[in-house]
Amino acid sequence: MGSSPAFPIFFFVWILELNKKLNNPGKSLGNIIIISAPSGAGKTAICNAVVRSSRNVAYSVSYTTRRPRKDEKNGGEYFFVNKTEFKKMVEEGKFAEWAKVHGNYYGTSKVFLDRMLKTEKNILMDIDVQGGMIIKKQYPGACMIFVMPPDLRTLKERLVSRNKDHKEIIKMRLDNAVEEVKSVQKYEYLVINEKLDKAVVEVKTIIKSLKYKIQKNKKYFNDFFDRG
Ligand code: 5GP
Repeated sequence: MGSSPAFPIFFFVWILELNKKLNNPGKSLGNIIIISAPSGAGKTAICNAVVRSSRNVAYSVSYTTRRPRKDEKNGGEYFFVNKTEFKKMVEEGKFAEWAKVHGNYYGTSKVFLDRMLKTEKNILMDIDVQGGMIIKKQYPGACMIFVMPPDLRTLKERLVSRNKDHKEIIKMRLDNAVEEVKSVQKYEYLVINEKLDKAVVEVKTIIKSLKYKIQKNKKYFNDFFDRG
C-alpha cells in the first residue's frame, strides 16, 4: 500500500511558514475591525468595496440561520445553516460570539477567526452591536467603527428601496435601527455614509491608521535602547 505524498508536503510547507514567522518576530496578528450599523446604513456595500479594493483586508464570513437572499452564496456572504446546526455549534462552543438579530441567529466561528488572524491581514467583521461588544472584550485592540446614514429619512428609503426583505421584516429592522443608533457611544469611529465612495475611503483611512497605534509598535520600543 503506497503512502500519500500529501502529508510530507504539508509538513514541509508548515516548517517553511514557521521559519518565516520566527525570522519576523516583529510581525503581529492582523487587526480586527468591527463594523456595525443600523440596517439600511449601507454597511454591506462599504465592506464589500473595502475588501475588494484592499489587498490586506479580508472579510469575516459569519454563520447565519437567515435564508439566503437572491444572489447570496453559501460561503460568500455567509455560511447558511439551519437552527439545529446553529444550536449544535453553540453547544460545542464553536462561536467566538453569536447573537439573535432581527429574528435570526448570526455567529462568528472561532476557528475561522483564528485562521484569518494568522494570515496577518486586517479582518473586517460586519456584526451587530451585541457581537461587537463581545469581540471587543476578547480582543481589546479591535477597532470599532459605526456607520450611520445621513438621516433617518434616508435610512427608511434605503431599507424600502433595496427591496431585499418582506414588509414585516423591513418594519422590524426599522424599529431595531432606533435601538442600534443608541449604541453609537460604545464605538470609536463614526462614518456617515452619504456617498458610498467617500465612506469607503474613510473606512480605509481608519484601517490604515491602525498601524501607527502604540500597541502595534511594541517591537520598536522594546528594541529602542538596544539599537543604540
Ligand atoms: P443581514 O441579515 O442584513 O445580512 O444582517 C443582519 C445583521 O446581522 C447586521 O447588523 C449584521 O451586522 C449582523 N451580523 C452579521 N453577521 C453577524 C455575526 O456573525 N454576529 C453578529 N453578532 N451579528 C452579525
